[in-house]
Amino acid sequence: MGVPVDALTKSELLDIIFNESKEQKQIITINPEMILAAQHDKDFMNILNKSAINTADGTGLLWAANTQNDPKIISFLKLFKLLFKKPTTPLPELIKGADLMLDIAQQAAENGTKIFLLGAQPGVAEKTKIELEKQFPKVQIVGTYSGSPSPYEEEKMKDIINDTNPEILFVAYGAPAQEKWIARNLHKIPTIKAAIGVGGTFDYISGTIKRAPLLLQNLGLEWLYRLIKEPKRWKRIWNAVVVFPHRVVSRQ
Ligand code: UDP
Repeated sequence: MGVPVDALTKSELLDIIFNESKEQKQIITINPEMILAAQHDKDFMNILNKSAINTADGTGLLWAANTQNDPKIISFLKLFKLLFKKPTTPLPELIKGADLMLDIAQQAAENGTKIFLLGAQPGVAEKTKIELEKQFPKVQIVGTYSGSPSPYEEEKMKDIINDTNPEILFVAYGAPAQEKWIARNLHKIPTIKAAIGVGGTFDYISGTIKRAPLLLQNLGLEWLYRLIKEPKRWKRIWNAVVVFPHRVVSRQ
């Protein structure tokens, strides 16, 4: 469907972020809704094709990669099997944005790498900073700012971030706004080595919104929990759970 996804494990990704410092990297955690959105958003599709690394953040992607060359009926059977067992090839593992942020924060704390938190509702990034400092006492969160994903405020935001010389930038505006913000602004903030859009992750880490219980996450049913908690998300969930599998199967 036109979106490249890197076959990387989380530890390989962390190694690239912390040990390959040559170029600035936009890292995108891809989920099925993003692939669907890119089908009718050229700008977003370009960004997904130009980013340094795209990781698989959605069980639907593991399934899609696993069933690429199968007949329809096998694809459907594999979809059902997903409830019991995650496919592992050719994408080696799921890299969930929310887990990735914690792993990056942990390694940044060990290495003395500076982090900036941009986005979410006012006060949430600051609460996220406090929570990360509790979990990783040596972590250096050099700044937080709520701001807005619209281009109108970005010159000011760029200056605020540049004043703190961060090396890693987390942006929480939801997709595709956060990916577009990073694509427009990364080159204007030269100290940043890696920038990642993390959606609602600040809300989870700060405790503003609760994540699904681990059992549901492991069953690939986090979407069901979110549907019950936030019914207004039904369209996004419908896209991920029904439209995306249908598109994958019917293009074969
Ligand atoms: N958000 C924001 N400004 C906006 C739109 C969204 O700060 O104009 C934040 C919102 O508060 C939330 C995050 O962006 O923290 C997006 O969360 P969502 O749950 O939509 O993202 P997902 O995790 O589903 O990608």
